[in-house]
Amino acid sequence: MSTIYDKYQIIMGLETHVRVKSNTKMFCPCANAIELALEPNQNVCPICMGFPGMLPTLSAWVVDLAVRAAHAMRSTVQEKSIFDRKSYFYPDLPMGYQITQMYHPITIGWEVRTLIHGELKSFRIHHMHLENDAGKLIHVSWKTLCDYNRAGSPLMEIVTEPDFRSKEDVIGYLEELQKIMRWCWASDADMEKWQLRCDVNISVRLKDETILRTRVELKNINSFSSIGRAIDNEFERQIELYEAGKAPDQETRGWNDEKGYSTPLRSKEDAMDYRYFPEPDLLPLMLSHEYIQERTINELPIDRRIKYIEQYNLGADDARILSNDRTTSDFYETLVELTGDSKKSCSYITTILFSLFDASIEPISIVDIQSNVTEFARVIQLVNSDELSSTNSKRVIEELVKNGGKTDEIIDTLWLRQKNDITALEKIVDEVLANNASQVEEYRAGKVNLFGFFVGQCMKVSAGQWNPKVFTDLVKQKIG
Ligand SMILES: [Zn+2]
Repeated sequence: MSTIYDKYQIIMGLETHVRVKSNTKMFCPCANAIELALEPNQNVCPICMGFPGMLPTLSAWVVDLAVRAAHAMRSTVQEKSIFDRKSYFYPDLPMGYQITQMYHPITIGWEVRTLIHGELKSFRIHHMHLENDAGKLIHVSWKTLCDYNRAGSPLMEIVTEPDFRSKEDVIGYLEELQKIMRWCWASDADMEKWQLRCDVNISVRLKDETILRTRVELKNINSFSSIGRAIDNEFERQIELYEAGKAPDQETRGWNDEKGYSTPLRSKEDAMDYRYFPEPDLLPLMLSHEYIQERTINELPIDRRIKYIEQYNLGADDARILSNDRTTSDFYETLVELTGDSKKSCSYITTILFSLFDASIEPISIVDIQSNVTEFARVIQLVNSDELSSTNSKRVIEELVKNGGKTDEIIDTLWLRQKNDITALEKIVDEVLANNASQVEEYRAGKVNLFGFFVGQCMKVSAGQWNPKVFTDLVKQKIG
């Protein structure tokens, strides 16, 4: 049954703030508020508090990470960008202005690509600029408290084109953005820790329309789970207005996830005059071509994900899991390089290693074992050359995870090496068949389930050290 909502489509653009993972704030030596600090107002100094006469100094670390983040969006890094002052008064802004890049941002254009329900989608980036964060207001009954720990912390604001047509698009983009920010070390982009915040610009129009109608900016969305609810609510609110012969106001609204609705924060009419002008205390940021090139990123998580599906023939889930974070992906890439076996390298990580990590009481991850990657590759090589059984390989992996060491030494210590000396094995098979002549007769007369008995006898004589697969082949050759 069709509803009034089916006639309309949603058009969205995003403004995302990502906190840069530098040690210091953007313009002073204070510790950056990457984690939520325990005590308020611990990380403050005269510079980030805007005391008269203090001069900001741009952190080289922030610039370095921002350029890497720009490359991760395939964006064009500008050799010259300029900081501007955005003046407004609010208690969470001790300087009385924000330092941002209004007219000449550090990077312009390009895209974030991701797979949504198996389809490759690209969302265009308009630009990314650098700016410092404000503090935090804490409202306690009749009073408001100010915490300036994050005042002056570096932010990257990433503005997209209006390319989003569903909440799945928005969530897919944000998840990919989080991945690439972690990939290039620019940010952990953890929404719960306020390292990633997103404002959504939403408008609706009839499905056959091409114009853009009035847009509403939705703020205060602070978790992946609340994004979908906020978008659905705004989509329906705007349609209900149009259907009632009205139109939404161009305004900024705050989303209240607990109550499930948004309320107006400010309208376009009373938008503040920010009196932008070039920041007089900072020179333009000049970056050389070499500096920009040195920070290029070759392969992104999405490139590897597609490669794993198309070239390595992995399933979509495995490809996603193995390209999620750089450590796991690099570990997998090295395993494939050393063993030439993309499927087995995948299953050793996703089934054996991950279940060992899950079962471990001590927290353990790929990070703890990555330096020993050649020994894990050696396990796969030995399984593929039939010198180690697949069952025993799990014991070896467990030992490598728990205590490290060398694969070959572990195998020899635990007596797990399968012997494949054909002449010696043939001797055992001949002996077993000679000692069980009557069973051989029965087998030849049609009692085919005796086959396993012969292989079992061979394994028994060889004390389990020899390869059952080779025994199976030899017995088959000899008794048909
Ligand atoms: Zn400071």
